[in-house]
Amino acid sequence: MSESTARKLICYRCKVELQPEKTYFQYLGHSFFTDIPKCPVCGLVYIPEELARGRMAEVEQELEDK
Ligand SMILES: [Zn+2]
Repeated sequence: MSESTARKLICYRCKVELQPEKTYFQYLGHSFFTDIPKCPVCGLVYIPEELARGRMAEVEQELEDK
């Protein structure tokens, strides 16, 4: 449990706390599971910047190398 790093994210539409949910991603032909904060009411997902810049960037780099 990493409670110190967990930030509370609130859905701007429903005003409820987003719950982490294992989400299946497909990106540039790669697929992976990761925990993404998701609104239990409307299903809105929040993509953390670190994921967008970290993992996604890694995948992009991988593809460029080929
Ligand atoms: Zn919502």
